[in-house]
Amino acid sequence: MKYLLVLIVLIIAYNVWRKQRIDSGSAAKPPHRAPPGTPRIPQEMVPCARCGLMMPKTEALEQGGKHYCSAEHQRQGPA
Ligand SMILES: [Zn+2]
Repeated sequence: MKYLLVLIVLIIAYNVWRKQRIDSGSAAKPPHRAPPGTPRIPQEMVPCARCGLMMPKTEALEQGGKHYCSAEHQRQGPA
């Protein structure tokens, strides 16, 4: 009988602990703005000087202050 009481206490403690984990988990989700690993920083977009294609500045090829979408357009120069 004593062990049964201990078991019941453990089950209740486990359920309370689990409920708190779920509550804190759902409470932590709403400010889910910046998930780690996927930065949502707005990137500066620049047009290709040759064809006008918009692309992130980090992916653009820069030459002489102008941006190009590809090495070919960079070679061809501005339109
Ligand atoms: Zn281009």
